Amino acid sequence: MSIAQNLLNIKSQLPESVTLVAVSKTKPVADLMEAYHAGQRIFGENKIQEMTEKWEQMPKDIQWHMIGHVQSNKVKYMIPYVKLIHGVDSLKLLKEINRLALKWRKKIDCLLQIHIAEEETKFGLDEKELKELLASEEFKTFDNIRVVGLMGMATFTDNQNQIKREFQHLKTLFDTYSQLKTENCQLKTLSMGMSGDYQTAIECGSTMVRIGSSIFGTR
Ligand SMILES: *Cc1c(COP(=O)(O)O)cnc(C)c1O
Repeated sequence: MSIAQNLLNIKSQLPESVTLVAVSKTKPVADLMEAYHAGQRIFGENKIQEMTEKWEQMPKDIQWHMIGHVQSNKVKYMIPYVKLIHGVDSLKLLKEINRLALKWRKKIDCLLQIHIAEEETKFGLDEKELKELLASEEFKTFDNIRVVGLMGMATFTDNQNQIKREFQHLKTLFDTYSQLKTENCQLKTLSMGMSGDYQTAIECGSTMVRIGSSIFGTR
C-alpha cells in the first residue's frame, strides 16, 4: 500500500479526539510530501538536525513535533519553529527551553516524558521526579514554557496486559496532574501509542498517537 493509503487507513481508525503525529524520522522528504498531499500536517522527528533540514525544505503550514530525547545544547536550533516537544524529562532541559524561548519572545509547548516501561533504557521521569519537578519553585518561574501534557512509551513486548498496565498507569498520573492548573502547566495532551500499540493506547485514554512504520514502512 502507498503512504497515502496507509495514512487514510490509520486515520479512519482514530476517534476524532485523537491527534495523529506522523513519525517521519529517517524518511526522505519525498515520502513526507506524499503524506502532506494526503492531508497530513503534523510530523514527528527525533533528531533536531534532521527536523530542521526537513522544515527548511517543506511547506510552512506543517507542525513539527520533536519526539526524541533532546540534548540541551541543540535546543536553540528548533526554538524558531518547533510546535511541541514531547521528550522533556528534566528541570535542566525545561530551564534551557525557557531561556531560549524568552530570547525568541515565544512560549514553547512541552510534554513531560514519563518512564512507564520496564526497560531501563527508556528515558523519562518517574512518579516522584514528576511530583518534585512540578512542585519546585524554579519550575514556577519558567514563564516561556507551557507544560501541556505527558508522554510515555510502553515496554516493547507482545504481552498486551503489560502494555495496558503501563498505559493505564500513565493515564492515572495524567488525570491526577490535570487538576493542577497553573500559569505554565495545564495538562490536556496524553501522548502515548505507536504503530504496534496505538489501539491499546487509545483504549487507555491516549489523545495523541505517534505512528511511523505503519505509515511510511519499516525503517
Ligand atoms: C520512532 C518513534 C515512534 C514511532 O514508532 P513506530 O513503531 O514506527 O510507529 C513513536 N514515538 C517515538 C518516541 C519514536 O522514537
